[in-house]
Amino acid sequence: AEDPRHVPNRAVIDPAAITQNTRALGTLLEEQTALMAVVKADGYGHGMLTAARAAIEGGATWLGVAHPASALALARAGLDAQILCWLYEPHTAKIVLPEVLSAGVDVAVGSMDMLALVSAAAREADRRARVHLKIDTGMGRNGVLPWQVREIGAAMREDDFIQVTAAWTHLTSADEVDDPATDQQVEIFDSCVRALEDEVGPIPLQHLANSAATLTRPDLHRDIVRPGIALYGYPPVPADIALRPAMTLTSSLALVKEVPEGQSIGYGRIHRTSRATRLGLVPIGYADGLHRAASDRIEVLVRTESGDRRVPQVGRISMDQIVVDLGPDSTARPGDKVVLFGDAGGEPDAPSAPTAEHWARAAGTIPYEVLTSVSGRVTRRVL
Ligand code: PLP
Repeated sequence: AEDPRHVPNRAVIDPAAITQNTRALGTLLEEQTALMAVVKADGYGHGMLTAARAAIEGGATWLGVAHPASALALARAGLDAQILCWLYEPHTAKIVLPEVLSAGVDVAVGSMDMLALVSAAAREADRRARVHLKIDTGMGRNGVLPWQVREIGAAMREDDFIQVTAAWTHLTSADEVDDPATDQQVEIFDSCVRALEDEVGPIPLQHLANSAATLTRPDLHRDIVRPGIALYGYPPVPADIALRPAMTLTSSLALVKEVPEGQSIGYGRIHRTSRATRLGLVPIGYADGLHRAASDRIEVLVRTESGDRRVPQVGRISMDQIVVDLGPDSTARPGDKVVLFGDAGGEPDAPSAPTAEHWARAAGTIPYEVLTSVSGRVTRRVL
């Protein structure tokens, strides 16, 4: 890895924001509902352990990840939370699942083949696997289809190495508040749970609410909610609670130069200056995770001696660099701080930095992708 002292780019992570966001979500829950902090994809780019610890501090008692390897890393960190992982395939499962089960991690099962993998791993680990049966109620990804529930239920009942801990599903459209798809999924889920209970007896836990459903559908909270993106400060639906971004992406001006009107900028010359101006070069680009699709459609914040200013990024975003139009009267100098998105922490009346939501809109994507795209070349600094 490059020596972080030699590169100016930082993803500054504020764990207190994650803690406060978790607490704020917790205020929406009934006492008996637990909160599973979704910390997959390296904590949505914030650092998995940083995010997990901060969320536990805020009241999370569960941690959710996709990969068994992530679950194992969480388990080894000795955190005070139950862990669930939900995505694996045979080659890696054979190696890692016995260890994952030995570490006390819960695993999702979404097919008969996955059940066989978990059962074999449980035998090897010589302990009963705590299984969350994933039901495909419309996502079409992981999960058993409604008409397969009884068959897999019977198989689990007959297997001494399987303990059915939970039934769960994932919502396709919870961020579209009026979309009838959510209620259709819930109806399918509930009938699957009844069928499963016929086979295996009472199911201790049910969970289906992501951030959007946690914020808008208290009737779907059930035993556990599974928010991800809201923990990091980006509610996917308008939220009544205060949430703030936990990641701030910063860089620093490499050079400043005066150019005449009509100066072309970057590959393809998609931008020409409309007046004489000062351009700033920022040594961060798409290889650091900036979305090239946002080229010439986004602003950044520049912190100069005379104050903070939002300025447009101009021309195509390159692999390692972007150009910003500082304006003809700018006092910005090489070395001045640039905030790409997040919380600039400026004076109360100073302009705020763009957010990952602004980048997502400019690039035609979602904040999830903006946050998880920040590449390994960018040093994470935890406040
Ligand atoms: N549950 C599962 C199974 C997921 O895959 C995810 C993330 O996509 C979440 C919960 C959290 O979703 P969100 O980040 O929208 O809250």
